[in-house]
Amino acid sequence: MTAKEIITYLENWAPPGAAWERDNVGLQVGSAESKVNKIFLCLDLTEKALDTAIANNCNLIITHHPLIFYPIYKLDVRNNPKAKLISKIIKHDITVYSAHTNLDFTKNGVSYELAKTMKLKNIRFLKNLDNTLNKLTVFVPENSLEKVSKAIFSAGGGVIGEYKKCSYRLNGTGTFEGSEETNPAVGEREKFETVPETRLEVLVSDWNLGKAVAAMLKAHPYEEPAFDIYPLKNPNPNFGMGALGELNKPMSTNEFLAFVCDSLKIDNLRYTNGKKGKIKTVAVCGGSCSDLLNEAISAKADAFVTADVKYHTFQDGENKILFIDAGHYETEIFSLNVVKNMLEKFIREKKENVKVLKYKGSTNPVKFYNKKGENQIA
Ligand SMILES: [Zn+2]
Repeated sequence: MTAKEIITYLENWAPPGAAWERDNVGLQVGSAESKVNKIFLCLDLTEKALDTAIANNCNLIITHHPLIFYPIYKLDVRNNPKAKLISKIIKHDITVYSAHTNLDFTKNGVSYELAKTMKLKNIRFLKNLDNTLNKLTVFVPENSLEKVSKAIFSAGGGVIGEYKKCSYRLNGTGTFEGSEETNPAVGEREKFETVPETRLEVLVSDWNLGKAVAAMLKAHPYEEPAFDIYPLKNPNPNFGMGALGELNKPMSTNEFLAFVCDSLKIDNLRYTNGKKGKIKTVAVCGGSCSDLLNEAISAKADAFVTADVKYHTFQDGENKILFIDAGHYETEIFSLNVVKNMLEKFIREKKENVKVLKYKGSTNPVKFYNKKGENQIA
C-alpha cells in the first residue's frame, strides 16, 4: 500500500482545501509513491518522536502540526534543529504528512473528538465555514441525467450533513442551433433544436469544484454543455470550527472543572467564571480558538473549553461564560485516536498488513511547576 492511498483516504475526510488559507498541510517530506510498512502518528514531530518512529520501522509519519510551517531558506543541519530533523527523515527514507486545520475543520475531526472525549451529546459545529460552498447547475438531456449526476456525486458533490447524493431536478426545454462545424449529440447541425432537458442542481464545496466540473463535462453528452457555478453565502454544513454539545446532566462550575480535568487527564487548567447557574451546553475547540469566544456566547453555551487564552480575552468572557484554557496539547491529543481508528479500518478493508502506531511519549513543550518543586509532565 502506498502513502498516496493513505493520504487520499485521509483527504477525502479532511480535504486540504478546507484548511486555513495560510496553513501548510499535506506532504511535508518524502514521496507519496513510497510503499508504507508502518504508520506513526504524533501531534508534533520532535526528534524523540522521530527516533521512536525509526526504531519501530515506521516509514510514514502523520503529524497534526505541520513539520514545516514557516519557510526554510537554508538546510543548515548543524545549526538548525528543523534542518537536522529533515535531514534525518530523508536519510531514513521516511515520508511525513501533516493534517492540521483541515483535520480541525472536518466532521469528527479534532474538536468533535474533544467533544466526544468530554462525552457531549448532540455534537454539531460551533461555527460552520463560510464562503466555501457553490451550486453547480447543469442542463442535461433526460437520458444522460443519471450518468451526469453520478459523476458529480462521485467527485464529492451533493453532500449535506449526513445526506449524500442530494440534488434538485427540474424538467424544462433547452434550445440550440449548431453551426456547420458541430456534431450535436441530439438533433442535427444547422437546425434549430428543441430538446427536453433537466436542470440539475448540486451543492459542491470549493475544493471539489474543479473535480466535479471535470467529471460533469466528461459524463455530459453535449459538445458544449451549458452549466452555471453560483458561489453561495450559505454556511457549509459539512465543515466548521469548534464543536457544541450538551452534557448528560447539568453540573456546577466546580463539578465541571473537575470533569474537564478527569476527561482530559490533566491536573491543571486556567479559567474565568461564567454566568450563574449550572453548566449544560458546552462549546469546545481543540487548540488556539479563543477568537471563537463570541460564537460560544451567542450559541448560549454555559462553558467554552479551548486553549492559549490571553489575559484580556479571559476578561472578555468573564461572567458571560465559564471560559476554560485546558492546554493546547491537552485539547488536541485525543484526535490521534480517531485518526488511528479510521486508518486501521481503512487498512482492514483493503486487506493490507500495515500497523498504525501512536507515539506514547509527550510532545508537549509546556510543563507545569508547583511550589513543592514537583515537575509535572504534561
Ligand atoms: Zn494545534
